[in-house]
Amino acid sequence: MAVREGILVPGADSARACPRRVALLGSTGSIGTSCLEVIESLPERLEAFGLCAHTRWEALLEQARSFRPRFVAAMTGEAARQLAGKLPPDCQLLIGEEGLAELVAQPEVDVVLAAVVGAAGLTGTWLALEAGKTVAVANKETLVMAGPLVMELAGRRGARVLPVDSEHSAIFQALQAGLAAPSPPTPLPQGEGSQVSQVRRVVLTASGGPFRGKKRSDLENVSVEEALRHPTWRMGPKITVDSATLMNKALEVIEARWLFGLSPDQIEVIIHPESIVHSFVEFKDGSVLAQLSPPDMRLPIQYALLYPERVEGPARRLDWSELSTLTFEQPDAQTFPALELGYEVARRGGTCGAVLNAANETAVSRFLAGELGFLDIPRVCRAVLDEHPYSARPTLSELHALDRWARQEVVRWTRTNMCSVTA
Ligand code: NDP
Ligand code: MG
Repeated sequence: MAVREGILVPGADSARACPRRVALLGSTGSIGTSCLEVIESLPERLEAFGLCAHTRWEALLEQARSFRPRFVAAMTGEAARQLAGKLPPDCQLLIGEEGLAELVAQPEVDVVLAAVVGAAGLTGTWLALEAGKTVAVANKETLVMAGPLVMELAGRRGARVLPVDSEHSAIFQALQAGLAAPSPPTPLPQGEGSQVSQVRRVVLTASGGPFRGKKRSDLENVSVEEALRHPTWRMGPKITVDSATLMNKALEVIEARWLFGLSPDQIEVIIHPESIVHSFVEFKDGSVLAQLSPPDMRLPIQYALLYPERVEGPARRLDWSELSTLTFEQPDAQTFPALELGYEVARRGGTCGAVLNAANETAVSRFLAGELGFLDIPRVCRAVLDEHPYSARPTLSELHALDRWARQEVVRWTRTNMCSVTA
C-alpha cells in the first residue's frame, strides 16, 4: 500500500509518484541547507525545483550547480548581477519579489519550504498560499506577525500550512497519532466540534538555551559569543539569540495559537535541556502523546515535505544506550521576561504580534552589532509593545506599517537609552 497526498492507495507501490518538487525559500540558511541534505538523500522522493536566497550568492550558485534546479530566485540586485551568466544552462534566473511570485506559483511546484528568517519571510509564504500551494513553514515570524490572516488565506485558497518548527511538528505528529480521524490541516482544525476540541492542552518543550539556571544579575553583561553558544541546536544567529532570551519560545506560543487554533491557556512551556522530547499533547481523556527524536531539524523538514508518509531519511536516530535521563523543569519567568510577552501577545492578538516580532528582530540585530545589552532585548520589546496603537483586526498593510514603525521605535529607544547609559 502506498500513500499519496494523504490517500492510501492499495497496491500502488510499483507505480511510485514522481519526486515532489520543492521550492526552497532561504536555501542558504541553516534550515535551507538541512533541507537540501534531506533532498539529496531522497532523490526518488524529492527534487529541488527552485532555490531562493538573499545575499549569499556564492553559496546559492554552488547549490544551483549541485542540485540543478529549474529556477533560482535572487532577492537582491547585487546577487542577481553576480549570478547572471553563471548558472547552469537549464536554470532560469528570477529576480526580486516578482521573481519570487513567479517561482512559487509554478504549476510544477508541489511544496514550498518557507525558511527565510524574520518578517521578510511573510511575502514568500503569502504568495505561495495565494497560489494555493502547500507551504511547509519554518519561518515562525510569519505566523507571529499575521497568523490569523495567513491561516484565513490558506483556508480561502484551499492551500495547506504544515509546521516545520520542531515543537509544532511534534504537536502535529501527536495529533495525527492521537485523533480518531486525522485530516490534513488546511487550516488546522479549529473550534468546538473539530478534532482540536479533543485536546486539553499542549506543552512546548524548550532547551532553556545557554543561560539556563542563570539569574538576571548574571545576564546584564553577557557577550554575543556567549549568547550564540546554544547547547543543543545549530541554527542561524537570530533564532539562536531568541533561544537565549526565551523569545523563541514566546514566538512559538503565538505560532501554536494560530497554527492549531488553541487558546493561550491551552499552551504551556516546560524546560527540557536534552531537546529529545519535542512537545507533548494532552488529550481530554488525560492521555499524553509526545514525539521524541534527537535534536535534528532534518526530521521535521522531511516530515513536512513528504507528509503524511514516513520513509528512511538522513536524520539522526535515538541511541537508547546513551540516553539515561530526560529532565523537565519550570521556566524562570523572572530571568526570562520574554516568555510572558509571548503569552500577552497570544492573548491580545491583533497588531501585537507584528509589533513584538519587529521590535525583537531589530533588538536582536542591534545586540549582535554590540549596540544593545542582552537584557535590553525584552526591555525594548516591552516598551514598544506598550506604546503601540493597538487594533484588534488589522489588515496586512496595517501590519506592514506597524512593522516599520516598531523598527524605528527600537532605533529611537536604543539612541535614547544607550546615550543616557554611556553619558
Ligand atoms: P539563517 O539565518 O540560517 O538563514 C536565513 C535564510 O533567509 C538565508 O537563506 C538568507 O539568505 C535568507 N534571507 C534573509 N533575509 C531574506 C530576505 N529579505 N529575502 C529572502 N531571503 C532572505 O536562518 P535559519 O535557517 O536558522 O532560520 C530560518 C527560519 O526558520 C527562521 O524563521 C527560524 O526562526 C526558523 N527555524 C529555524 C530553526 C533552525 O534550526 N535553524 C528551527 C526552527 C525554526 P542569505 O543567506 O543568502 O542572505
Ligand atoms: Mg522550535
